[in-house]
Amino acid sequence: MWKDSPRTVRKIVFGTFAVGAVPALAGAMMEVTALTVIGVLLVIVAVVIHFMFYRCPHCGEFLDRSTGAYCPHCGKKME
Ligand SMILES: [Zn+2]
Repeated sequence: MWKDSPRTVRKIVFGTFAVGAVPALAGAMMEVTALTVIGVLLVIVAVVIHFMFYRCPHCGEFLDRSTGAYCPHCGKKME
């Protein structure tokens, strides 16, 4: 499962965030509300995915901004 790999979750979060940030900014600059709303929603989805699935596959602790090869909570290696 993709949610078992923090590295994959990070890629999905970053991808969703990037895809959402572009229309959010473009919409804000061009004053196109629909575009801004879509972009902001995608950014929110990225944040939700981050908080729900960016966890250690061993101990299940939330990894926050940790990008290391080892879990800061249980010390086990990330796959
Ligand atoms: Zn852990």
